[in-house]
Amino acid sequence: MTRVLYRNVRATPGTAVGGDGIHLFDRDGRRYIDACCGVVVSSLGHNHPRVVEAIKRQADQLAYVHAGAFTNGPAEELAELLVERSPGLTHAYFLSGGSEIVELCLKTAYQYHVETGQPGRRTFISRRQSYHGSTLGTLAISGNLQRRDIFDPLLGPTHLVAPCYAYRDKREGESDREYGRRLAAELEEKILEIGPDQVAAFVAETVVGSTSGAVPPVEGYFAEIRAVCDRHGVLLILDEVMAGMGRTGHHYACAEDDVRPDILAVGKGLAAGYQPISAMLVAPHVHEAIRAGSGILKNGQTFVNHPLACATALEVQRTIVEDGLLGNVRQRGHQLRTRLTEVFAEQPHVGDVRGRGLFIGVEVVEDRSTKEPLATDFGFPARLRAEALREGLMTYPMSGTIDGRRGDHVLLAPPFICTADDVEAIVTRFAAAVDAVFREAS
Ligand code: PLP
Repeated sequence: MTRVLYRNVRATPGTAVGGDGIHLFDRDGRRYIDACCGVVVSSLGHNHPRVVEAIKRQADQLAYVHAGAFTNGPAEELAELLVERSPGLTHAYFLSGGSEIVELCLKTAYQYHVETGQPGRRTFISRRQSYHGSTLGTLAISGNLQRRDIFDPLLGPTHLVAPCYAYRDKREGESDREYGRRLAAELEEKILEIGPDQVAAFVAETVVGSTSGAVPPVEGYFAEIRAVCDRHGVLLILDEVMAGMGRTGHHYACAEDDVRPDILAVGKGLAAGYQPISAMLVAPHVHEAIRAGSGILKNGQTFVNHPLACATALEVQRTIVEDGLLGNVRQRGHQLRTRLTEVFAEQPHVGDVRGRGLFIGVEVVEDRSTKEPLATDFGFPARLRAEALREGLMTYPMSGTIDGRRGDHVLLAPPFICTADDVEAIVTRFAAAVDAVFREAS
């Protein structure tokens, strides 16, 4: 009997006992390729000697100090590294998880408007199908119906616009530019409908992760969005909790999108799972508004700028830079996408293979030509997960891809350290699992 309260309170998951590189081991001696890094976290794989050593070093020196009393070397150095590589952001603040950092981004956006004399800007606009966290504040701006679930009545009014989801929503004959402009026009309409003097920020994932399966924006989309936000004094918050920190082959996913956010959130891959840590980065005008105004960032939490977590993240990020792993992410990501496209060329249930770097989504359908989704009672995620485990492969399948209810996809997000042979092994096992799911069903 377990005393741990699991998500599925009727079942206890298997026990993981170790990991090495791209592999995870369970208590029964089974070995799996971790092709999804948990939930897109373990970007350096498991048991990375350099990171483990850094954790020991920092634990020997100083594990914790409260940020209200002291700063600490690792937090200072990590902020320096993140800022230096960022799209014009100048200051960083560290917390423990993605939800709380996005929550802080919302609070900071509002504080910015208060400090600049616009306290009426209290409304946030986000996108349908989005997921920004599990706290009430972040759920309230998350469009995904599955995650809002029973909490919906607690969340207040939500202001949503369409996501950038070219596979399904770009019209026949419409160019990427036109599609991006159409979506930006929808955002502008929404701002005008609410009243520009009431809108605090627009929040979006640079590349949509868990809810829709690694959906990148079309070229030009974020430039259009930025222009709309600027026209109306609305801040742009980019949520890169999943897509950031090298996952797409760039330190920040938005490096590919010709856009500078006002506030940006990262998490998951920041310390690659070796410690829980997330970061908010702010643009100079946001920092200056607070400095020149009240002078106080209105947030206090116990684990702000945690030294051990920051030292771990610092080592992870230095390893990514010094080992040239962003280049590997781009090369291996290209290989993975190309090989998946090849092996599924004749698989009628694979509708789309998409993504950036080692952040890849495979959307499965009933009918490739019409893009008709699988029946909702098909139970694709559970079936795929089971078949993949039989093949010794960890994947991240989800349903509700299209609108929180219909559609299915699998996220593949292997560690940045994977080799060409590892990618081949992932493709072989994944293709076998997908084929088994549909063979069994036919
Ligand atoms: N934002 C995005 C885009 C995410 O994918 C997630 C988690 O999946 C979160 C926020 C919340 O992060 P956490 O689960 O660390 O609280």
